[in-house]
Amino acid sequence: MRTQVGIVGAGPAGLLLALMLQRDGIDCVVLESRSRDYVESRVRAGVLEQGTVDLMAELGAVDRLRRESMPDARLDVRFSGGIITMDLPALTPGKIVTVYGQQEVVKDLIATRLDRGGAILFEAEAARLSGVNYVRPVVHFRYKGRDETLECDIIAGCDGFHGICRGAIPEQVLTVYDRIYPFGWLGILSESTPFAEMSYSNHEHGFALASRRSPRISRLYVQCPADDDPAQWPDNRIWEELHLRLYDRGGELDEGRIFQKDVIPVRAFVAAPMHHGRLFLAGDAAHIVPPTGAKGLNLAAADVRVLARALAEFFRTGSVARLERYSDTCLKRVWKVVRYSNYMTSLLHRFETHSPFERRVQQAELEYLLNSMPARTTIAENYVGLPFEED
Ligand SMILES: Cc1cc2nc3c(=O)[nH]c(=O)nc-3n(C[C@H](O)[C@H](O)[C@H](O)COP(=O)(O)OP(=O)(O)OC[C@H]3O[C@@H](n4cnc5c(N)ncnc54)[C@H](O)[C@@H]3O)c2cc1C
Repeated sequence: MRTQVGIVGAGPAGLLLALMLQRDGIDCVVLESRSRDYVESRVRAGVLEQGTVDLMAELGAVDRLRRESMPDARLDVRFSGGIITMDLPALTPGKIVTVYGQQEVVKDLIATRLDRGGAILFEAEAARLSGVNYVRPVVHFRYKGRDETLECDIIAGCDGFHGICRGAIPEQVLTVYDRIYPFGWLGILSESTPFAEMSYSNHEHGFALASRRSPRISRLYVQCPADDDPAQWPDNRIWEELHLRLYDRGGELDEGRIFQKDVIPVRAFVAAPMHHGRLFLAGDAAHIVPPTGAKGLNLAAADVRVLARALAEFFRTGSVARLERYSDTCLKRVWKVVRYSNYMTSLLHRFETHSPFERRVQQAELEYLLNSMPARTTIAENYVGLPFEED
């Protein structure tokens, strides 16, 4: 097989890139190791910045989102001293976020790509890349029991944190920045009426978060040990901790059937550069951020926006100038998002290693936010998404 851009991975990064390239008349093939059903039901993120929604709108993949998503104009942070309320349109100004599950985003992008006759090969697992330093790099993959090759001009490594593309960049070229936080998140989906707004909480027992996926489905999280097993969390223990950690004294938290439970790691990871030869990494393949900032999916979308523009210029004019700036352009945003996600993680979690001094500083930071509009504005402008800088 031969194409202009070989895209490894049909997550948000790979699918958004495929639609942008298709719009620009650039031929591409998406290889995805999992089945369509699997990727369309994988529960992960759910908070979209306006820039991500705008990109889906530009690509004509926003109809269902407009009908079914939930605009969110407020963000609350609860702690022992009260509730810090951030009115997003007042602070940003005019901006909000949109709550819409990542699996729904993926469904819409796949449907749009296939409706337009684009290629996605499901259950096509990339095994290795070759020739990334040459003009015709190749993706070697396994499909329907056979070994196949996809020859390309460019390979886009959109295969997530555990993919194989990052490994094709020689170790001596790649710098890895990594922070593993000493806890994880237990996440649940439940059939219960969600809180009216996204509510983070800092509590002596640890962090909690009340979010939602639909008007009847709550997405709730509690901080837990990093290696915890969801089996250690019977439903009644989860509800007890949620009531406590969310300071729910008035029966605000609605309990319902829990139909999904998982433990997710809390980690920051950045691999630089995001480009080597004819290989370009995007999204989780290059970086992951702690989920506290709700940024992973949005950052993946921001990367491929830059990549698509650089590829359009390359295929139209032969210029590699933008492609060569790709990594630097993306990493500027990545580090700002790492900074914000790390800040929110440090502000809201209980660290067993914290001394009484550090615990008091954390408390003082929360008190400061409660009373300072500039401090709340800083959180709000990062939460709704920083503006895109010209590259
Ligand atoms: C378990 C989990 C829970 C998360 N929860 C949250 C959350 O609650 N809130 C939040 O904001 N963010 C969350 N995130 C982060 C967010 O979901 C990611 O940042 C986002 O999915 C990044 O998109 P992506 O396209 O870069 O990567 P992915 O969505 O990971 O997509 C990569 C794709 O590549 C495919 N692939 C991998 N290897 C190969 C191969 N060899 N060949 C072919 N295909 C391959 C994978 O199957 C996958 O479909 C979570 C992430 C994970 C992993």
